[in-house]
Amino acid sequence: MKTADVVVVGGSAAGVTAAITARRHYPGKSVLLVRKETQVLIPCGIPYICGTVGSPDKNLIPDGVLEKEQVELLVAEATAIDRERKRLITTSGEVGYDRLIVATGSHPVTPLIPGVEMDGVFTILKDVDYLRRMQVLLKTARDIVVVGGGFIGIEFADEIRKTGEKTITIVEIAPHCLSLSYDEEFCVEAEQVLQSNGIRILNATKVAGFVGDGHVTGVKLSNGETLKADVVILGTGSKASAELGKAAGLRIGATGAIDVDRTMRTSDKHIFACGDCAEKVSFFGGGHSTLKLASIATLEARIAGANIFGITRENPGTVGVWSTALGDFALGTAGLTETMAKACGYDAVAATVEGPNRHPAGMPGGAKTKVKLVFESNSCVLLGGQVRGNAVAGEIINTISACVQKRMTADDIATFQMGTHPALTASPIAYPLVNAAELAINKMRFSSPAC
Ligand SMILES: Cc1cc2nc3c(=O)[nH]c(=O)nc-3n(C[C@H](O)[C@H](O)[C@H](O)COP(=O)(O)OP(=O)(O)OC[C@H]3O[C@@H](n4cnc5c(N)ncnc54)[C@H](O)[C@@H]3O)c2cc1C
Repeated sequence: MKTADVVVVGGSAAGVTAAITARRHYPGKSVLLVRKETQVLIPCGIPYICGTVGSPDKNLIPDGVLEKEQVELLVAEATAIDRERKRLITTSGEVGYDRLIVATGSHPVTPLIPGVEMDGVFTILKDVDYLRRMQVLLKTARDIVVVGGGFIGIEFADEIRKTGEKTITIVEIAPHCLSLSYDEEFCVEAEQVLQSNGIRILNATKVAGFVGDGHVTGVKLSNGETLKADVVILGTGSKASAELGKAAGLRIGATGAIDVDRTMRTSDKHIFACGDCAEKVSFFGGGHSTLKLASIATLEARIAGANIFGITRENPGTVGVWSTALGDFALGTAGLTETMAKACGYDAVAATVEGPNRHPAGMPGGAKTKVKLVFESNSCVLLGGQVRGNAVAGEIINTISACVQKRMTADDIATFQMGTHPALTASPIAYPLVNAAELAINKMRFSSPAC
């Protein structure tokens, strides 16, 4: 029987990061990672297999990462946890552990829509063979319908259109694509880019059913229209894969994920959980959060991996930071949007600025960058931000996320010391984060002594 001081179940963002973190923090301990698939996809790269990357085989997490960190790998499915004997039961036999980290991730939600089981209707399963087949069908498909206008749906739509003459339609039930994470003005800009790329968007529209004779040929909408479809892609959310933990009697949280405390420990003190399979609380107010992101998974994994033999880190809750790109057009969001902040009950004040991200503006790589910051008006603390620009937006939003996590005030941001360079950043005189903070201070000046 195999044994290891630390056994990790799951070979993706959370599992790999937890194993590496455990190795770094406890170099004397043996670390074994168990995962069920021979090849693990980079989940965030999946939409790009349709276009830019070219195939699932070019979108894999290299096993070299584990070898380099001396993490032993066992390719097997974990079928049960025997907590009494501290054994993980797998399809390749039992594995003894001192500490176990469960990082079994999530699986797509299949909406209960008539005809959803038909051939040609795909969820976003993180499985190489499944995605290879989807790619084969996409190559010859003419009419493609993407259900769900979240970031995964829009990325799929934009990548597929790069592969040739196709009619692509996004059907979104909300008033706008991306509206769960961006204020309306940013959603509208993203929709304009998609539309200018020839993608049709049907907002505020519900799918009533899929039609076809075994293979899908159309999508019936609640407004009576039927769209032609050779392939349908469902970008309709995901659910925690908590079955292994649940069957072992670990406590399950309100959203159906494995319950953990702020140290990422489950209801069994020898078992930790992290990533999409673990229950989350929001950074804002501590309520339940259903966000599932690689940024959250790896943060939790760094906490779990460090804490297994002694608590050194705690989870402050999910801020929710991510970005997306449609060619040169990029969007980033962190924390609460203005709409979300108001809906949560905050007295939110927002300020938006727009300007070049180089100085002078004509320097290569320049693009107009829009930054919106949202503050709580009484404390002047930053609640969130959104960015639109070129590739730089991806790093600007990470800076904003750090400011949110450190609960910086508008004054902290207006006076932070940033490095600038004509070829790399906006001008120090008109730095967007600073300007947005100053603008917000002006709006809050009369309502809060903190500003
Ligand atoms: C198409 C797509 C695009 C995305 N883009 C982004 C993005 O741009 N930015 C971002 O922050 N997030 C993105 N996400 C979300 C992000 O990918 C997930 O939050 C992240 O993958 C979670 O990592 P995880 O390790 O917890 O779970 P998963 O990635 O689901 O991995 C779970 C692992 O556990 C293994 N496993 C499960 N059960 C068992 C078992 N019983 N025995 C053995 N092994 C098992 C699985 O096989 C897998 O290796 C995207 C997700 C998708 C689907």
